[in-house]
Amino acid sequence: MTSSSLFDVIVIGSGIGGLVSATQLAAKGAKVLVLESYVIPGGSAGYFEHQSYRFDVGASMIFGMGSKGTTNLLTRALDAVNVSLETIADPVQIHYHLPNGLNLKVDRVYEKFLQNLTAYFPHEKVGIRRFYDECWQVFNCLNSIDLLSLEEPRYLLRVFLQHPLACLGLAKYLPQNAGDVARRYIKDPQLLQFIDMECYCWSVVPANMTPMINAGMVFSDRHYGGVNYPKGGVGKIAQTLVAGLEKAGGTIQYQARVTQILTERGKAVGVKLANGEVYQGKRIVSNATRWDTFEKLLPVESIPHNEKKWQQTYQKSPSFLSLHMGVEKSVLPPGTECHHILLEDWQEMTVSQGTIFVSIPTLLDPDLAPRGYHIIHAFTPDWIDNWQGLSETEYEARKEAAAWRMIERLEQIFPGLNAGLDYLEVGTPRTHRRFLGRQDGTYGPIPRRKLWGLLGMRFNRTAIPGLYCVGDSTFPGQGLNAVAFSGFACAHRIAVDLGL
Ligand SMILES: Cc1cc2nc3c(=O)[nH]c(=O)nc-3n(C[C@H](O)[C@H](O)[C@H](O)COP(=O)(O)OP(=O)(O)OC[C@H]3O[C@@H](n4cnc5c(N)ncnc54)[C@H](O)[C@@H]3O)c2cc1C
Repeated sequence: MTSSSLFDVIVIGSGIGGLVSATQLAAKGAKVLVLESYVIPGGSAGYFEHQSYRFDVGASMIFGMGSKGTTNLLTRALDAVNVSLETIADPVQIHYHLPNGLNLKVDRVYEKFLQNLTAYFPHEKVGIRRFYDECWQVFNCLNSIDLLSLEEPRYLLRVFLQHPLACLGLAKYLPQNAGDVARRYIKDPQLLQFIDMECYCWSVVPANMTPMINAGMVFSDRHYGGVNYPKGGVGKIAQTLVAGLEKAGGTIQYQARVTQILTERGKAVGVKLANGEVYQGKRIVSNATRWDTFEKLLPVESIPHNEKKWQQTYQKSPSFLSLHMGVEKSVLPPGTECHHILLEDWQEMTVSQGTIFVSIPTLLDPDLAPRGYHIIHAFTPDWIDNWQGLSETEYEARKEAAAWRMIERLEQIFPGLNAGLDYLEVGTPRTHRRFLGRQDGTYGPIPRRKLWGLLGMRFNRTAIPGLYCVGDSTFPGQGLNAVAFSGFACAHRIAVDLGL
């Protein structure tokens, strides 16, 4: 082995979790190699181009890019490697189009949001404020401390001594779910359904299964740091992190698919690529999902006991059916917001192709589409099983039928959508699996049943010495700011382990 093929840290995958971890470690002086199977970085926060359109493949509602506090983890990750991004503030987080005419905008200004919601549920005025104010308590605790590895006892002690009340607050909320807190204050069943949707649209489970820590983060940060879109598209986040990684001395290789994590006497010591190349690392970080890591990159017959247990507690969430559309400008009524949620019947909220999520990033950054056109990305949860075992003709026919059903539903908010279509690309759970390298195209882990908040979620270390996981199958879960948290925590733990 030559010294050039021995790295301090090898990161498998350049999703945001992997890149934050890699940049943090490179900034601390570690020799870091990132191996990415695809041709560009970013994973679910990547992009693709068609003619003059630049589409986000997944994430588009971006938290963590604010300028204050400690929870703006994407801003902080970029800062750490001396790079930055221009962002565009989104004045409304989501415009909800829900059953029984519940048509509501979540304004960036907290009081305006409360007013909008209270206008629909005046009899719940007090309960609404109490619930969302309690979310702020969680957020204020998080936002007063440096968010690093909860697996590092000296850090925990330091933070506790510096901020005892914030730590006790977080300890109190860690085992709680948002639905239980909401039910303490709110009785109206339709309002509780709304809170379910407030959670479902990012956790893909209803409020009673959504950890309060995550809810506190999302429901408050949208009014604090706010939702901010990166100029040039979401893909810029990963591209800029890569620029920072390289500036800090790290290396990234694309089209470098890891097929095996190499172990010696039970310890992870390197990786093998599909082309047969081998790299050795003192520490190996997997940004692939836990299912991919333990079932594909390591021998499935020796999956560690605690991973089996974790899989009994968490399951893969559905993937998505995605429509990437280029549309004529005239399709969007004046005053249209960037993000929408559409649901016609509460019974359908969690079913396949029930809730539709919409993002129109060109309302914030018109340069992502040709002049006179907009991008509409509409997606809806869907299971891979609905798309397996089909002939090519059946697959294409099913895609087309599903796409037109979705377009017909979207006509309710964008009349003339069908007539104004300039471009349409349909992605299924199979597409997500293939391009994002995620088993079954899953969006990430969801609890199999109601759990104690975030208590069951795994941190970064694994049962295999030298192997760490980072990204959405680690604490605290899905979302770019959440995986950035995981990246900070993972790098922190590794830096301590390597004595950096
Ligand atoms: C449709 C959709 C919409 C979303 N909307 C939002 C949103 O609005 N806001 C938000 O915050 N979040 C959103 N998310 C969630 C968010 O995008 C993810 O939680 C987050 O990007 C996951 O990051 P990650 O670091 O876990 O890794 P991933 O994004 O999964 O990246 C992992 C990377 O590892 C690579 N890889 C995997 N296996 C290997 C291997 N064997 N060898 C080499 N490379 C490998 C993959 O190619 C990939 O690049 C959305 C997700 C989807 C799918």
